[in-house]
Amino acid sequence: MDKHSSFAISNPHKVTLDNIQKLGLWLGISGLLILVLATLNVHLEPKNIFVLVSIGFILIGTTVYARRTYLKQPSGIKNNHVWFKSLTNRSVLGWSVGIILTLFYVLLYWFPKFLGLGINGEPNSGLIVMFDSISMFFKEQPASQWFVYGTLYTLAILALGIKFMYKYRHNQYQLIRTTVVIISQLFLAYLIPEILEGLNSETPYFAKDIKNMWPLNYYFFESWHLDNMLNGGTLGMFYLVVGIFMFLVFTPIITYFVGKRWYCSWICGCGGLAETAGDPFRHLSSKKLSAWKLERWLIHSVMVFIFIVTVVVLYGYFTGSGEFLGLSIYNYFSKPYGFLIGAMFSGVIGVGFYPMLGNRVWCRFGCPLAGYMGIIQRFKSRFRITTNGGQCISCGNCSTYCEQGIDVRAYAQKGENIVRASCVGCGICSAVCPRGVLKLENGPEKGRINPTDVLLGNDVDLMNLVNNKTSKF
Ligand code: SF4
Ligand code: SF4
Repeated sequence: MDKHSSFAISNPHKVTLDNIQKLGLWLGISGLLILVLATLNVHLEPKNIFVLVSIGFILIGTTVYARRTYLKQPSGIKNNHVWFKSLTNRSVLGWSVGIILTLFYVLLYWFPKFLGLGINGEPNSGLIVMFDSISMFFKEQPASQWFVYGTLYTLAILALGIKFMYKYRHNQYQLIRTTVVIISQLFLAYLIPEILEGLNSETPYFAKDIKNMWPLNYYFFESWHLDNMLNGGTLGMFYLVVGIFMFLVFTPIITYFVGKRWYCSWICGCGGLAETAGDPFRHLSSKKLSAWKLERWLIHSVMVFIFIVTVVVLYGYFTGSGEFLGLSIYNYFSKPYGFLIGAMFSGVIGVGFYPMLGNRVWCRFGCPLAGYMGIIQRFKSRFRITTNGGQCISCGNCSTYCEQGIDVRAYAQKGENIVRASCVGCGICSAVCPRGVLKLENGPEKGRINPTDVLLGNDVDLMNLVNNKTSKF
């Protein structure tokens, strides 16, 4: 098929890049190429200049490309050609990117020395040594693989967040949300923890990303982490108390008022990457009923799994025992969870499989924190998406671009409110709807779920319904 094909009868969207777009692409690719060459151990000196040039090229290149691409068209989301591009229709380019991402995660988690991590006191090399100067600046230590990962992760959210904002520039919700996503990642997840590490270099490590709470942070209650927080002075105690407060008090209260969106699509790092870098792949989420069933089984199984692991780990901590019912706590509980869920599911599959399974595989099928907030959202929250069914033209844009695989159109056609545990409140269904059918709202719980209120074609007394409506829109 012609690469400029379109589903439209007359193809209005020829894909041609002008010189400014080509310049942006060239800059971005050059920046990436520096990192690839470093990974292949090509000698690049001076490293501190090369790494800054690489980061600068990626940021400037993406901005130039996105600005030119989206500002040249009228505002409004088009998503032209997503089903015809090799990158976004599971073709060669998509598979290639998926395999490279997956390989990167495998090396990061299990074989960091192939990325250049110095083992047993050896100096760093390859990709990792490129980031030594930045790490030295923050905390006077050479870079670890996690420092490199955190820097690249933040760079991806920043660069592709800017691209996202050009693309969705007509939608205020998306602009504010993405600004918060970028600020959360840059300050809460990256700069503040790194600066605190530098200021407390004598204190053993504990997680200082304040929003990364249990159970998403699955090692929060591990003995070594608890000890490090308890021995970490005022700062350690602060993180311990805030971590428990966030999960037990703050999260249920905020989720009650606005749904799980405050976390999943506004401040979470996993959600942040999915919403920015993962945006071109959101239509790849499965909308099958079987996927919905699998989602409910999997996410709640992971929740139960982490709950059991945490109880067992705390039992070991308070009794001083390394075993539970004759089983080694580390080998049978902590390690399998860390391997299967922490590394394989959230990292390798969660991000590596973006181009095959969509951008929210982890959030939809695995994240125990999303599962916990999903239960509150479904049964005890003011959040809902209301649908003005009479305006729906059944184009299906909303369902296509729902990254959580929700068949939004089915609700819209019936004029039924959407109250689903898995909805992350990204607002894209509403943003891509050409008829303004969908609204993300917080209102009284009464009347939130209305499967029988307005069924098109049914004999419903609409005036009575309107007069009795207590919700404030
Ligand atoms: S239903 Fe809409 S707001 Fe919810 S996850 Fe899907 S696209 Fe996002
Ligand atoms: S995008 Fe809007 S008009 Fe199209 S099916 Fe969804 S609710 Fe209906």
